[in-house]
Formats: sequence, structure tokens, C-alpha cells
Amino acid sequence: MSSEIIDEALSITRELDDQLRFYREIGLEDIGGSTATRELAPAANHTESASGPLKAGAIGEHPQLRNDKGAAQQAALFGDTILPREQPHPRSRSQSFPVLEPSDASLEAIREDIGDCRRCKLHEHRRTIVFGEGNPRAKLVFIGEGPGAEEDATGRPFVGRAGQLLDKIIAAIGLRREDVYIANIVKCRPPGNRTPERDEVDTCEPFLFRQLAFIRPDVIVALGSPAFQCLLRTREPITRARGEWRDWNGIKVMPTFHPAFLLRSPDKKREVWDDMKKVRDYLNREAS
Ligand code: SF4
Repeated sequence: MSSEIIDEALSITRELDDQLRFYREIGLEDIGGSTATRELAPAANHTESASGPLKAGAIGEHPQLRNDKGAAQQAALFGDTILPREQPHPRSRSQSFPVLEPSDASLEAIREDIGDCRRCKLHEHRRTIVFGEGNPRAKLVFIGEGPGAEEDATGRPFVGRAGQLLDKIIAAIGLRREDVYIANIVKCRPPGNRTPERDEVDTCEPFLFRQLAFIRPDVIVALGSPAFQCLLRTREPITRARGEWRDWNGIKVMPTFHPAFLLRSPDKKREVWDDMKKVRDYLNREAS
């Protein structure tokens, strides 16, 4: 081998060495298509180098990261809670569903137990407790995540614009609002309509479970990601789960989009209608 070739090889090696050292200094460790698992760092921090912009996906962006970024963007688009994959729901545990033994004489008895509840921090900003309303013997129960401003003001669930749309959805399957029961995972309005936090859900949901144990519906429609994920103890996004029957304590659950989401994305009404037709057909079969 000539000395020129050896010098050129050494020069290339030094260049590569310098380049690798630079990538390490800016935090890039997984270079060159390694499939080793590593912490997923925000790719946006790694798109520029001294020698010019790095193309996204060319160096330092693990394929898993690209997939997760795509999923996160899609989830954000559809109003999903964005959760890392391959991690169980924080409250996920085997046999995690409550035993659904009716132990209350009436829904009023449950409401009396709640009283002027201050069991969780949501009591601090609420005006009224939104217990839930409807037919105590309903075959169909709708569950949302929590009261909004108008619900907080009136003490009734789903009475704002989203509630009016829910009324139309109920009418579209041949029922009236007074035929069904409507409630939320938490009974006090989260400030700024934020998603209820885990400790708030943990504290409040036993009341909902008692309501469901008393009503014992044939079908629960879980409206939106938080309601679905809390009820089913899952991190599965509503975009993937909607339209598929699930089971909660022997009761069929249909996950679908929240009416508030439909107000922002009316093109999704078709999907909700498809889901509600499944609910209608199931209820009709059960009744015949
Ligand atoms: S959200 Fe539920 S647990 Fe929390 S204060 Fe209101 S009623 Fe009580």
C-alpha cells in the first residue's frame, strides 16, 4: 500500500473521529443506524451542526423517535392525551376494575354521601357539584371527563354547546335525554377545563362507580380520551380505540369522540355516528 493511500486513510479517520466527537458533545450518541434502545431526546435540539443543518432522520434521530413524534403529532391533532408507549396506565393493575355490587338504595343516597365534598382539590374553584342526571334505570350511560363552565354554573352535566350536540346524538339513535344517564369522571370543574389529575380522579371516581353499580346500564359510551382512559385503565388513544367494543365490569363500553371535539372537528361526526349506530343496534338487540 502506498504512503499516499495510508495518509488519505489516516486523514479520513481523523475527520470521522472529529465528527463523532462533535456529535457526542452535542448529545448525539446513537449514530449510524444502531437499534440499541436509548432515551429519546428532543430532536429539535439536534438539527444544526457547525458544518450545516442535519436533516431530520439522517443522524441522531432514532426510528422509534420518528414514529413517536408522528404519533404525538397525530394525537395532538385529535385531542388525545399524549402518553409514552409501552408503559402501563399509572393505575393499571390486574383485576383493577371495581366490584360492581350495587350497595346503594338510590342515587340520592350517593348524592347525600358526597355532601359538600372537599375530598380533593377540585372543590376549591367549583361553584356546584355536578352529580349527573337522567334515568336511574337507563340502559345507556354517557360519561365525560368533567364539568365545564356552564355545567359548573347550572349543576347539570353537558348543558353547553357540547351538551346540545350530545342531545342531538342521543336523538339520532331514537332516544331522549331523559332516557339515558349522563355523568362525568369527576364532579367538580377542573380550573380552566384542564384534564383532571390522577389524585382527583382516584378520589372522585368511586362515586361514579357507585352510580354505575346502581344503574347497571347495558352500555356505557365513554366520551373522549380522558373518560375512556380513566374508565378502562389504559393509555390507548381514543383515535385507535373508538368504535371498538370494550368491557368494563361486564358492561359494554363504546369509546368515541367527545362532542366538544366534534365542535372543533365537525368532519369527525361521521365516525361518531358509526359508533352510535353500533350502540343503537346493540341496545335494540338486547331489547328484543
Ligand atoms: S371532584 Fe369529586 S372528590 Fe373532588 S371535591 Fe368534587 S365531588 Fe369531591
